Amino acid sequence: MARILKAREGQVTRSRISVDGAPDLDCDRRSVAGSVSQRACTFCGSRVVLYPIADALHLVHGPVGCAVYTWDIRGALSSGPQLHRLSFSTDLRERHVVFGGEQQLEASLVELIARHRPNAAFVYATCIVGVIGDDVDAVCRAVSGRTGIPVIPVRSEGFRGSKRDGYSAACRALESLVGTAPTDGVTAHSVNLLGDFNLAGEIWIIRDYLERLGVQVVANLTGDGRVADIRRAHGAALNLVQCSGSTVGLAEHLRERYGQPYLRVSYFGFEDMAEALYGVARHFKDPQMMLRAREIVAEGITEAMPVIRAVRPDLEGKRAAIYVGGAFKAVSLVRALRTLGMRTVMVGSQTGTAEDYRTLTALCDPGTVVVDDSNPLELASFLVEEDVDLFVGGVKERPVAYKLGVAFCDHNHERKIALEGFVGMANFAKEVHASVTSPVWQLTPRRRREPSPSPLPGAVR
Ligand code: SF4
Repeated sequence: MARILKAREGQVTRSRISVDGAPDLDCDRRSVAGSVSQRACTFCGSRVVLYPIADALHLVHGPVGCAVYTWDIRGALSSGPQLHRLSFSTDLRERHVVFGGEQQLEASLVELIARHRPNAAFVYATCIVGVIGDDVDAVCRAVSGRTGIPVIPVRSEGFRGSKRDGYSAACRALESLVGTAPTDGVTAHSVNLLGDFNLAGEIWIIRDYLERLGVQVVANLTGDGRVADIRRAHGAALNLVQCSGSTVGLAEHLRERYGQPYLRVSYFGFEDMAEALYGVARHFKDPQMMLRAREIVAEGITEAMPVIRAVRPDLEGKRAAIYVGGAFKAVSLVRALRTLGMRTVMVGSQTGTAEDYRTLTALCDPGTVVVDDSNPLELASFLVEEDVDLFVGGVKERPVAYKLGVAFCDHNHERKIALEGFVGMANFAKEVHASVTSPVWQLTPRRRREPSPSPLPGAVR
């Protein structure tokens, strides 16, 4: 069995072990020192949430490495401006550590705003800024006064906490922008899309479904986002929250401040995509909208089913592992893999909550490994022990899979193929099939390890 650091033992379990009165999975805590977590830092957490706002300037106040590390990190697409794809840094050096970086920040902001004419600017505080104590808020206020655009500080010093704390910092930055413009033209049947980052143009698929339902989309937060839309987002009747880990804090704030309800949704897989559309129709209590939702679902599934039927015989009974940023996406992936006839034997996330893990442990087959904030050694052990045929993850999980000769499907930042919506389920099926059945695996036999003498507590296999 995988060797788990003692301090992490509460963060790993097997499904059906933590239900019926057993304690919840230990989660939403700082990474254990020395475990080499797959998580990024607080700054990166805020950067990935805000960066898809395409007509804003994103200035990283810190050493150039922080900006390079997150340059175009999501590959989020824009239907218009492309300013978000540039990575700006104040390039702090030793002299700024000694004398402070506020002048450098002010000069950089003034120069960049004059050159690029953004509709807002976000200023990300990195570790070193927290150490030297620059007054980022004061500089932002001063430059906002001089330039006439919102200049918003993001308190995202890397050491502040986990990636999840970066999500919170991003939400606070967005809160300061929402509610600053009139809501003329916003209809009674209107929504904001929270927590979709328009990887591979996915938000356009979802907007199309919603428009066919008869629902107005006021603002995308933040995929293909625009500052003017976000400023009037408080006028929408409902918030749809997909990546709940990153934006549920904003949804909670908007509910308290403006009385906007929210629905947690997922656009991955047939079941969850359909439920998202039905949930919107139910919310607006509109029978005609429900009929249109049923038509969209029927049409989408009918178009995708030939692909599912074609690949399923090759995938039936194969074993899958999932490790993604947010646990809500993992729930959809377990269901989507079942649609392909596959069984999930390991599932985990970087930022799941106790509620997310309760849902996962109840959903998965008995004995499935459920893990929070894992690391490469643990993941590699689970892949070998569980004899996994497919690993679904992101850029940091890809080498773990390939080194072990395990097929991999990118479900995170770097993918270029839309996986949301009904068309996305067909694309997912093709991706999984191509990887699992690739002839390359005949040349890379899986490595196997001797079982560890210390089995995972509560193991049922
Ligand atoms: S903010 Fe800190 S932890 Fe994050 S990339 Fe920069 S130096 Fe590294």
